Amino acid sequence: MKEPLHLFKIGGAILEDPEALEETLGFFSNLPGRKLLVHGGGRRANQMSRQLSIEPNMHEGRRITDSATLEVVVMVYAGLENKKVVALLQALNCNAIGLSGADGNVILAEKRPVKAIDYGYVGDVKKVNTQSIHTLLEAGLAPVFCAITHNGQGQLLNTNADTIAAELAIALAGQYQASLYYCFEKPGVMTDIDDVHSVIRYLDPELYTAYREQGIIAEGMIPKLDNAFRALKAGVASVHIGDRKSLALGRATQLVWTTEFPE
Ligand code: ADP
Repeated sequence: MKEPLHLFKIGGAILEDPEALEETLGFFSNLPGRKLLVHGGGRRANQMSRQLSIEPNMHEGRRITDSATLEVVVMVYAGLENKKVVALLQALNCNAIGLSGADGNVILAEKRPVKAIDYGYVGDVKKVNTQSIHTLLEAGLAPVFCAITHNGQGQLLNTNADTIAAELAIALAGQYQASLYYCFEKPGVMTDIDDVHSVIRYLDPELYTAYREQGIIAEGMIPKLDNAFRALKAGVASVHIGDRKSLALGRATQLVWTTEFPE
């Protein structure tokens, strides 16, 4: 029997809301057994960029990372946000250790090839080395990853946090019974974004395609779900999407292969 492992990704809106962050980290710190956290941090990076007179440049919701922007995101994600989360977890008696993908050589990425758009220093994950994470988990530590990777040749890269969470879950699914939680500010994937009672309890690929085509599932939820289904397909035991409360109560969205027999 594989040991259970909880992988928990927290979104940008939670990071910016002190109350939601404290509640979410409280929930995370109470999860039994081995656990790992991944965080984004986009909104704070935009604010810091502007303070430094570097105007954020986005294309279809994705950040264009030139060298000045890379310095900002490394400072904000791997510094400010990562250490803030670690310190809050320590205050909750959760022995967290903050990492980027370069630490322990955990996440190797490759600079995205330039096609129609040059995304700059954005990394696509190539390889996850699980040995260092395994060592930390077995020592009782909770690794906290920010969305920074490296290319193994001294170059840091900016990588989507949802992708990092999926890649870590996939790589660790060989050793652990991995459950992946995408925690954001809404109670789940919804049929009506303004109605908290419209959470889709079980989402399969067919329903996902239909809702996406109707524009019911849109924006950041599309890459999130693409990552989430990829993780499920690659052997991650379960994938859940919701806020702290819905995840705790088992009322968040769970991904399944078919909604015909959800349990
Ligand atoms: P994160 O905060 O985890 O980085 P994103 O901002 O990338 O997440 O994606 C989550 C966003 O997706 C939500 O804030 C919401 O506005 C949007 N979204 C689009 N369609 C839906 C939907 N059907 N249900 C829930 N959220 C949705």
